[in-house]
Amino acid sequence: MNQLTKNGKMDVGKWVKIFGILVILLFISLFTFSLVYKPKLQTALVVKEKNIVFINKGVLEKLNELYKENYPNEFLICLNGEIGENYYKITSLSETLVYNFSEYSVYFRKCPSGSIGSIHSHTKPAICIPSAMDIYTFGATGEAIFGIICGENKIAFFDPTSLTQSLKVVIS
Ligand SMILES: [Zn+2]
Repeated sequence: MNQLTKNGKMDVGKWVKIFGILVILLFISLFTFSLVYKPKLQTALVVKEKNIVFINKGVLEKLNELYKENYPNEFLICLNGEIGENYYKITSLSETLVYNFSEYSVYFRKCPSGSIGSIHSHTKPAICIPSAMDIYTFGATGEAIFGIICGENKIAFFDPTSLTQSLKVVIS
């Protein structure tokens, strides 16, 4: 009897070991899989969470013109449109008071309450990446989105869910 019980216990122990090894193998393969597929998975997740910006073609053309007209100085203009559940729709632009502008900065009065945000240009350097000041100002204005234009048809939009990576832009 004792012998049998012992054997029984040993068998259980053996299965626990096999099960443990299988679990470890599963974790190792999942970990390896996550390493291999990390970039794809990350992109998919980010796209799913991010809001989409729809911009009217006429608005984009107007922004291109303003960029050229003001170059090398920066400009800023307010964005009007609609805020949806997972999108922003920019349908028109409106001016706001700009106190001071240069090649490196633009100081402006907060956009009127009807607007959903603002867009300003970056000329030197012409990169569509927000500066620390841009992010600070955006937080202070409490607007839904802000944009940067850094060349012809080169635009990027950011919102509180996406301050370091630009939102997806669709020209409509
Ligand atoms: Zn800026």
